[in-house]
Amino acid sequence: MTEPTDTGRRKFLKTGAMAVAALPLATLIHQGKVQAMPKAEDGHALDYVNDGADSDHPDYEEDQRCDNCAFWAGEEENGWGGCHHPEFADVLVKDKGWCSAWAG
Ligand code: SF4
Repeated sequence: MTEPTDTGRRKFLKTGAMAVAALPLATLIHQGKVQAMPKAEDGHALDYVNDGADSDHPDYEEDQRCDNCAFWAGEEENGWGGCHHPEFADVLVKDKGWCSAWAG
């Protein structure tokens, strides 16, 4: 008479354990996806350059860099990081990069 309950409980525990084990895997996959984002190239959008010093844009000023811009989302790897501006949603930008949307 207790057989169906034990079987149900075992099934529940097994399913729960699998779900818990899947969480770190999902996290790793997500992190891999972030690291796989392409890096912006010069001219990507808004006169972007990977090194602000290379810009000849009239609005560029020496102390303006991606990593002190209001859109900077933080470094991901080796000076490359995210940008909250919609034109750069699918790429990483360089910490010393610059574009004409720079905001202090
Ligand atoms: S808006 Fe432009 S300057 Fe600012 S972080 Fe993004 S790419 Fe760099």
